Amino acid sequence: MSSNPFYKKHYTTVDNLTRANVMYLMQRADFMLDVISNKSEHIPLKNKHAAILFYQPSTRTYTSFHAAACRLGMTVTGIQGMSAYSSAVKGETLADTIKTVYQTTGADVIVLRHPDDDSSKTAAKNSYVPVINAGSGKREHPTQALLDLHTIYKNVGRIDNLNIVMVGDHLFGRTTKSLAKLLGLVGENVKVTFVAPKELQVVEEFIGELAQMGLAVELAYDLGTVLDCADVVYMTRVQKEWFEDAGRLEDYKRLKDSFILTPMLAEEMKPESIIMHPLPRTDELPPEVDTNPRARYFKQMRSGLALRMALLESILLAEVV
Ligand code: ASP
Repeated sequence: MSSNPFYKKHYTTVDNLTRANVMYLMQRADFMLDVISNKSEHIPLKNKHAAILFYQPSTRTYTSFHAAACRLGMTVTGIQGMSAYSSAVKGETLADTIKTVYQTTGADVIVLRHPDDDSSKTAAKNSYVPVINAGSGKREHPTQALLDLHTIYKNVGRIDNLNIVMVGDHLFGRTTKSLAKLLGLVGENVKVTFVAPKELQVVEEFIGELAQMGLAVELAYDLGTVLDCADVVYMTRVQKEWFEDAGRLEDYKRLKDSFILTPMLAEEMKPESIIMHPLPRTDELPPEVDTNPRARYFKQMRSGLALRMALLESILLAEVV
């Protein structure tokens, strides 16, 4: 295996990734999948500690980071209610909290989820140890992008020559932004079709950024017309919390069911194509689709555990053993 490009580095964005770096992680994630399914012992991070600080709700990302750290032999300080139960309530800055948690826990790595777009960059600037972005505001979810790519690579069999349809909320949602960027950075001949109500569509500036990376980008407003040539349909929910914050709940109600992948629509997809979703879902992906052989959104989460194990190991260990 080639040398480890992640050692002692922050992982706050997909922006600096290269194809070689990503393939290195994909292979380590494959190894971790075997470790998980064979229940074999792989505890190279035995004397290390992870601080996992979540200022926003989470099920998948939190539990998988927590389990990933434990499975590699680490001890963990994990707090899911940082926004309500930490000194943030008393007005402490994120910079001070990051410095504090390093001192109080002796953490070797800090995993952060936070509602501010720039939070992980602020944290990295103020941290003595590597910071991993577990979701920052409306902008980035770089570990989700990696696990999504791993799911595509395992289930479609390639990361090139792909036609991906991303559906839902591209204004507030961070997963489609990070995945599209990652595909632009490391994939060859990839086309992304963004489907969303006009108000939640990708913004011009971002389309320009993606085009510069060589990604072919299309916008669409009718799900039925774009499904038959998709290799991947990536569904997302309309992000209620951001509408709530802006006092726009009526708009949320009007927009939330704009695009629903019904069992009938799913049948219009190619037999070998796959359906993904970062979850949680609301009505855009009915449970009746779960038995469709194209559905991969539950399996996708196992890639999350494996990938986060691979990332923690790569950041904390110079050479894999
Ligand atoms: N779990 C993903 C995120 O944290 C997707 C979502 O919440 O809709 O961004």
